[in-house]
Amino acid sequence: MSKEITIVGAGLVGSLCSLYMIKRGYKVNVFERRKDLRSEIITAGKSINLALSTRGWTALKEAGVESEVMKIAIPVHKRTMHDLKGRLTDQPYGNEGECIYSVSRVKMNVLLMNLAEKNGAKLYFNKKCIDVDFEKSAVTFEHTESKKIQNIKSDFLIGADGAFSVVRKQMVDKHKHDYEYNEIDHDYKELLIPSGKEGSYLLDKNALHIWPRGEFMLMALANLDGSFTCTLFAPKKGKNSFEGLNTKKEVEDYFSSIFPDFTELVPDLYEQWQSNPTSTLGIVRTYPWHINNTSLLIGDSAHATVPFYGQGMNCGFEDCRIFNALLDDYNDDLQSCFKKYSEIRKPNGDGVQDLSMHNFIVMRDKTADPMFLLQKKIEKKFSNLYPDKWQPLYSMVSFTNISYSEAWNIGMKQEKIMQEIMQTPNIEDVWDNDEIMQKINSFL
Ligand code: FAD
Repeated sequence: MSKEITIVGAGLVGSLCSLYMIKRGYKVNVFERRKDLRSEIITAGKSINLALSTRGWTALKEAGVESEVMKIAIPVHKRTMHDLKGRLTDQPYGNEGECIYSVSRVKMNVLLMNLAEKNGAKLYFNKKCIDVDFEKSAVTFEHTESKKIQNIKSDFLIGADGAFSVVRKQMVDKHKHDYEYNEIDHDYKELLIPSGKEGSYLLDKNALHIWPRGEFMLMALANLDGSFTCTLFAPKKGKNSFEGLNTKKEVEDYFSSIFPDFTELVPDLYEQWQSNPTSTLGIVRTYPWHINNTSLLIGDSAHATVPFYGQGMNCGFEDCRIFNALLDDYNDDLQSCFKKYSEIRKPNGDGVQDLSMHNFIVMRDKTADPMFLLQKKIEKKFSNLYPDKWQPLYSMVSFTNISYSEAWNIGMKQEKIMQEIMQTPNIEDVWDNDEIMQKINSFL
């Protein structure tokens, strides 16, 4: 008899997971706290667009929805750095044909919900999970308007309810699972560069734009309508922080002195500043990610991370693909499958945290450093000569399905080697010589 499952949360990962489960022949009910996004698009200064990379695509492809998502995706081939004078420097992400994609979070969520429903998943809105009975595999929901309580029992449940997951909290409270939430010292705020005439783009739409400024940065990714969603990441307190940005003058002075070319493109900067929320960022670590054969966590509920590698959603999509593959491997034996899922995904959840924090430093600081850009050029040359011996860390994370933990370990070893190489006298002049390639080879 086909299994009946409850998914808590119809966000990006819950929606994709429901598609996978429906395709296995399970009966799937998805309960979402929010209103139906499709009747009323709610963005309120959180119009986030997301970078979708290879492992996200791999999961979408296996669920059979890659071509639908491609219709709303904009290819992004490079980083474009904007300096204090508005001068631009490009850094390609990979080789010819390798790129990440910019996708609107809301559009993607709506698409995945529609596809899940079309394939047979049942979606229920305004249903907030308030309690879980893990022994009985039962979830209690409260209707957010009528406050009516409903108890749903199923064969198993999946917590896809995001960074502040109630399912995870119940696991931690009732089963003493490990849990840590670390908020970082930086907050973020979104701002929009509007489209130009007739929906034209005011910046190159096929680039991820960064204004790296050491301790803080601004970045922008294109939307389909010609606009760019931009995000300022800055410290909560101290120099150049959110704390000192309150009055119109403070905000306008800050942007025009630090991000002059950006400021010229945003006429209603202060209005946006006031109306868009400032949000916190944090890292979730928890373990295990399951209880017996009744429940498991996927996506941000298990491993919410900071957005600097653009991997939170990608990792969540990978969770769905791997979980589905394990159900195949274990012939749908839930007990063994859930245990294995926890064991193999946890190191990857940790890997994505390490990578994301590492890339924050790279983006906000290193991308403005000519020596760092040179290092990347040398690595690229070596990896093109010896693709079996070396893949740059960014490529491993964004253009392959190598596990995050492995990518992180290899990446750190490679970084050590490159630190040695960069000590070579006059490296700026000799970097292109064969000896440099041989030297890297000798370290391997
Ligand atoms: P969510 O998207 O948070 O969805 C959880 C769902 O559960 C929501 O719909 C919520 O309403 C619902 N819910 C919550 N509580 C309950 C409850 N009690 N009962 C019922 N339903 C509930 N990732 C990338 O891969 N690339 C990027 O470029 C990228 N950029 C980002 C930029 C920013 C600024 C941020 C903040 C994140 C970014 N991410 C990125 C991360 C990405 O947004 C998340 O990893 C992804 O949304 C996680 O999906 P999810 O479905 O697990 O959680």
